[in-house]
Amino acid sequence: MIFDGKTVAAKILQTLEEENAALRETYGRVPCLGVVLVGEDYGSVRYVASCERNAKRAGLDCKVVRLPENSREEEVLSVIRSLNEDKDVDGILVQMPLPKHISQERIVQTIRPEKDVDGVTDANVSQLWKQRRNDYSLFCVSCTPRSVMRILKEADIDLDGKNAVVIGRSNIVGMPVSKLLMNENATVTVCHSHTKELPAILRKADIIVAAIGKPKFVGADMVREGAVVVDVGINTDPATGKMCGDVDTDAVADRCRLITPVPGGVGQLTICSLMENTMDCFKRLRHG
Ligand code: NAD
Repeated sequence: MIFDGKTVAAKILQTLEEENAALRETYGRVPCLGVVLVGEDYGSVRYVASCERNAKRAGLDCKVVRLPENSREEEVLSVIRSLNEDKDVDGILVQMPLPKHISQERIVQTIRPEKDVDGVTDANVSQLWKQRRNDYSLFCVSCTPRSVMRILKEADIDLDGKNAVVIGRSNIVGMPVSKLLMNENATVTVCHSHTKELPAILRKADIIVAAIGKPKFVGADMVREGAVVVDVGINTDPATGKMCGDVDTDAVADRCRLITPVPGGVGQLTICSLMENTMDCFKRLRHG
C-alpha cells in the first residue's frame, strides 16, 4: 500500500479548522504561528509560503517576519525576544538554514520553550528523552518525527515489540523519531554513516524510517517482505532532476506492507504537525 499523504493531510487540516473555529468562540482568537525567515534561500522561501497557505487552511493565524540575509545576529535575537513576549503569538518557528554568520544554537535556545513549535530547545529535547509516553500536550517534538508517528497511526501499524530501524541520527529527525518509536514499545536500532552491515540490519526490520538525504539509497535487497517503510528523505534524483526520497520506491513498493511516497508522504504531514504543534502551544500557554 502506498500511503496517501495528501488525503490524510486534508483530513488533519479540516479537523484543525473545526477546532480553531471553536477556539475563536471561546478565546476571541485562534492560535498564531510566528515564523522568522532570514534571507532568501529558495527552499526556505517555499516552505514559509507553504506554512502561510496551510495555516490559512487550518484556520490558524501566521505572522512571518522576513529579515535580510545580512541581518546581524542581535537583530534576529531581538525579533525572537519580541515574539517570545507577544501575547498574540503562540508558536515560533525559525526557518533553517540561517546565514553562516549567525549562530543557530544561540538563536534556537532563545526561543521560549512553551512556544518552541519545532521542539529544538534544550528544554523540549530533555522532555522528549524523559517522557515515556508520546503525549504532545506535555512537550513539543520536531514536526517531522511527529508526522512519522502520525503516518504509522493512520495506517494502524502496531509498534509494540516490533523491530524498527531508523537510518539517520540527526537532532531534527533520526534521534527524536527513534525515541518516539521506543515510547511505543518498538525495539529500535539507529543506523548512521558508520554502521556496518546496514543491508543485513535493514532486512530484519519490521519498520524502516529512512532519514539520510541520499537519493534512492534503500533498495530492494534491504527490505524484507511485509515491511513498513517511511521515507523522510527529500532529494533530487540525479537521473531525472525530479524530487525523490531515500528509498527506491519503484524497486521496493511491491514487497512492502506500507510505503510513503516522495513527494506526497511525510512532507505533506510535516506541515500539519507544525499546525498541531502551534495548537498545542496555544493550549499549553493557557492551561499549563
Ligand atoms: P542530516 O544530514 O542531518 O542527517 C543525515 C543522517 O544520515 C546522518 O545521521 C548520517 O549519519 C546518516 N547517513 C548519511 N549517510 C549514510 C549512509 N551511507 N548510511 C547510513 N546512514 C547515513 O539530515 P536530516 O536533517 O536528518 O534529513 C535527512 C533527510 O530528510 C534529508 O533528505 C532531508 O531533506 C529530509 N527531511 C525531510 C523532512 C520532511 O518533512 N519530509 C524534514 C526534515 C528533513
